[in-house]
Amino acid sequence: MDLASYADLVIELVNTQDPAEDSLKDLDSLRELLTIRPHLSGRLTRDTLQAMRELRAEMRSIFVAAASGDEATAIDRLNTLLIQHPIHPQMSNHDGQDWHIHLTEGGSVPDRYAAGAAMGLAVKISDHGIERLGVCQADGCSNIYFDETKNSSKRYCSERCAGRSNVAALRARRLDGADTR
Ligand SMILES: [Zn+2]
Repeated sequence: MDLASYADLVIELVNTQDPAEDSLKDLDSLRELLTIRPHLSGRLTRDTLQAMRELRAEMRSIFVAAASGDEATAIDRLNTLLIQHPIHPQMSNHDGQDWHIHLTEGGSVPDRYAAGAAMGLAVKISDHGIERLGVCQADGCSNIYFDETKNSSKRYCSERCAGRSNVAALRARRLDGADTR
């Protein structure tokens, strides 16, 4: 299995936060975030939720720093997370799967989530470069993304945001044209 795929944990967590709506506001929404990660199941309390929200803010700050060109801050914060949430690799073949690596088996849900997410992000940056971390530039969207285009040209989290922004830019240009006439 590809360790960099653990970086999806970062995207899934950080993008629960939208300027218009926070979809990590209670234990039900936390349970929903974790449903596709059975190995991350465990006891969920208000403290778990609070820890996950703090982790979300820390993860976001790494992307915000990287996207603004402040590599030193981004790496510093990621290194802090790697130290705070060390991995303890174990082989597992749960639920009839082939043997595969689990990065950590012990600890609370946020600890395990953080260990997987930080390691995944570290591998992703090692493989593809820190300039691949981005924050959507569309108005009203703050989603983060990994730029996987050949020429590092991604500016928006989704086709939807790209389309919306192109329409807005076109309108702005038309208005400009009208003013100078
Ligand atoms: Zn977006």
